[in-house]
Amino acid sequence: KKYVYFFNEGDASMRDLLGGKGANLAEMTRLGLPVPPGFTVTTEACTRYYEDGETIAPEIVEQIHEYMKKLEEVTGKKFGDPNNPLLVSVRSGARVSMPGMMDTILNLGLNDETVEGLARATNNERFAYDSYRRFIQMFSDVVMGIDKNKFEAILDEIKEKRGAKFDTDLTAEDLKEVVKRFKELYKQEKGVDFPQDPQEQLLEAVKAVFRSWNNPRAIVYRRLNDIPSDWGTAVNVQSMVFGNMGNDSGTGVAFTRNPATGEKALFGEFLMNAQGEDVVAGIRTPQPISTLKETMPEVYNQFVEIAEKLEKHYKDMQDIEFTIERGKLYMLQTRNGKRTAQAAIKIAVDLVREGLIDEKTAVLRVDPKQLDQLLHPTFEPEALKAAKPVAKGLPASPGAASGKVYFTADEAVAAAKSGEKVILVRTETSPDDIEGMASAEGILTTRGGMTSHAAVVARGMGTPCVVGCGDARIDEQAKVMRIGDIVVREGDYISIDGSTGNVYIGEIKTVTPEISGDFAILMGWADKYRRLRVKANADTPRDAKIALEFGAEGIGLARTEHMFFDEERIPAMREMIIAKTEEQRRKALEKILPMQRSDFEQLFEIMGEYPVTIRLLDPPLHEFLPHLDEEIRELAEDMGVPFEELKATVESLKEFNPMLGHRGCRLAVTYPEIAEMQTRAIIEAAINVKKRTGKDVKPQIMIPLVGELKEFKYLKDIIVKVADEIIKQSGIELKYLVGTMVEVPRAALTADKIAKEAEFFSFGTNDLTQMTFGFSRDDAGKFLETYYEKKIYEFDPFEKLDQEGVGKLVEMGTKLGKQTRPDLEVGICGEHGGDPSSIEFCHRVGLDYVSASPYRVPIARLAAAQAAI
Ligand code: ADP
Ligand code: MG
Ligand code: MG
Repeated sequence: KKYVYFFNEGDASMRDLLGGKGANLAEMTRLGLPVPPGFTVTTEACTRYYEDGETIAPEIVEQIHEYMKKLEEVTGKKFGDPNNPLLVSVRSGARVSMPGMMDTILNLGLNDETVEGLARATNNERFAYDSYRRFIQMFSDVVMGIDKNKFEAILDEIKEKRGAKFDTDLTAEDLKEVVKRFKELYKQEKGVDFPQDPQEQLLEAVKAVFRSWNNPRAIVYRRLNDIPSDWGTAVNVQSMVFGNMGNDSGTGVAFTRNPATGEKALFGEFLMNAQGEDVVAGIRTPQPISTLKETMPEVYNQFVEIAEKLEKHYKDMQDIEFTIERGKLYMLQTRNGKRTAQAAIKIAVDLVREGLIDEKTAVLRVDPKQLDQLLHPTFEPEALKAAKPVAKGLPASPGAASGKVYFTADEAVAAAKSGEKVILVRTETSPDDIEGMASAEGILTTRGGMTSHAAVVARGMGTPCVVGCGDARIDEQAKVMRIGDIVVREGDYISIDGSTGNVYIGEIKTVTPEISGDFAILMGWADKYRRLRVKANADTPRDAKIALEFGAEGIGLARTEHMFFDEERIPAMREMIIAKTEEQRRKALEKILPMQRSDFEQLFEIMGEYPVTIRLLDPPLHEFLPHLDEEIRELAEDMGVPFEELKATVESLKEFNPMLGHRGCRLAVTYPEIAEMQTRAIIEAAINVKKRTGKDVKPQIMIPLVGELKEFKYLKDIIVKVADEIIKQSGIELKYLVGTMVEVPRAALTADKIAKEAEFFSFGTNDLTQMTFGFSRDDAGKFLETYYEKKIYEFDPFEKLDQEGVGKLVEMGTKLGKQTRPDLEVGICGEHGGDPSSIEFCHRVGLDYVSASPYRVPIARLAAAQAAI
């Protein structure tokens, strides 16, 4: 079997086999661009490596050697040749790009002899030893797991001793000293000498890349981005070109359009006399790519031409890595560039305008999850006027964020877990910070450019981010940041604006933006191509208004008990729950009726002729019960009952397992007066609004937690009796539906029967997931982490629908229901209604709509369109 491909044997379509980087290197080679030659070891070799117990099969080793020979022929250099050595980079590259996740090794093939050969061949000793010290450090770090800070410390020490500000100030002699010290450190750490055999270096490096597929940060990144763990990574072995050969050399990265705003203009950074990651690591501050225009106009023009060619070829914005070796340009990577949501939308719409792609392609180009960024708040204009920026950095990822400062990823994670809003403040970030970055509202760094790690990752996550804020000094030890004479301590509030780069002291109020401009155009296309309708889960007029603005076509779930969480109303609710007689209960319900009616009137008014689905009471009883004696006493007084008696009642209502207890429709079965009151509130509200506005309001009454047809029928009869009577008396016509939430597995299993009576289904996938897995949402957090680590589950089934198990119930319930009642309207209203991959599933199994939280409505619209295209 073929496990190795030369760059000229592949093309862009072979991404699964060659990885993204390998496939694009092959494609660029095919296009005749100046790519240093090399070969790719396939992702299948990686999978095989794991199958073979983390060893490389002899057959693969043989193919690697064979291709190494080929590379020697093409380059005219020999691997390990002490006179004119061939050096290579060993680069990872999975199917989808995982920035900074996997490690790359440069200058491989150097040893004590070849470094001398390199110095002679290039007549540049400084360069040779600079390359060697980089190689020793990378190899030791990536392959042997030696902490790279130990190397950095040695480098810093020697720099200080020589009075050198930058690496580039070090002389050949200095670098020889660095190499010597590095090798000593290696021996001290590993007990053996630094490996001198290039073949051994190569195989060890390949293995290390395979291993890095399973390093913790790669695993976290995969989980955050829904990447399956069995894809594996390819390895690219490429002959080196050198940006560190002097001041006619350098390395850079560029985007063909601005990745933050989408503006059509070459955007990039360049660093003279540098190699590899120097540009993004923030070691020296890079220059904008436009400066190349003056210093090396020919190279610049050639680069612009290639960039345009690549963009036209891939029909998308490209993120390009290049190196200039002694005035000659080389292309090292191209890929579809990561971008903010704002840029993604502008670029997609612009590309349609430019005639490069069509509307459907444009709709597919924007990641629905990313839209979240645009629906994120900006600073309230008034509040912003009053605030004065104290520092300014680069606007790396747009959006406004306010929160408490934490200086390490771990502390940020901990603070976010305990419910705090966090701004992660670091000198610069590294892949180890990824979890801290994911849990932060905003990220601030003091070093690094627009393509630094922090900037790239934050844009991907849609987290507001300001980088390179040089006005601020961080003392990580003391946990303080100083800006001039302002001192910011851990836990203090700051605010950052990722669109302007401004940093403010204190908390600034934020507001939600609206959908306009290119965003509105793209959403219009999405609406044109989707089949699924999108409704919102909204309990309050405020939520309903936001949902409508974001394009919701009705309310798919209004939870009536959520209307009672506020202080004024909770006593009435409690009275109702702990009532002992029907009379007491009716009295409490009387108090609730007008409140509910006015709630519903507001919802109907806002939604006009869109359907509004109201779920009957499903109170998690324990959330409403008074707990403290004090609360019980107060309530007892209000109700005019003795404290002891009430306390006893509260005790008696405690359940062993409230989630599987006396809740949902079981409550209404035991106390039908609750269903009667709620029906009255809903129908009267609908009639009032219809009379007032003339709009054909569409109430839908949803019975929760049904598991049996007779249970449903019992309640439906009560609802219909009350409703029809009110309607008759009102003298106006009103259509309403009675349906059920399918959330008990038995309901899905007997959906054909339940559909005889139910006029609509809405899958309540939160409870359905809970009951299908048999673990509670509130407790699963404790053990799910372990399940991810052990690869038993790869994602949280409460966030992303478990299509295999829970999904089977959804599919079956839908099919069975529609068999009985072809016009049965079926939707989903769990958390999953706003999750793109779950929406895709809902489309596939023939649901009619999804209902998502208001802020996720645009995400759902786009995801529904993508599912349909
Ligand atoms: P990543 O996926 O993290 O970007 P890369 O494999 O692209 O890692 O490599 C890291 C850095 O090394 C990049 O800046 C790249 O341009 C540089 N690099 C990789 N291979 C070579 C090579 N053959 N010659 C010169 N520079 C290289
Ligand atoms: Mg790269
Ligand atoms: Mg439920």
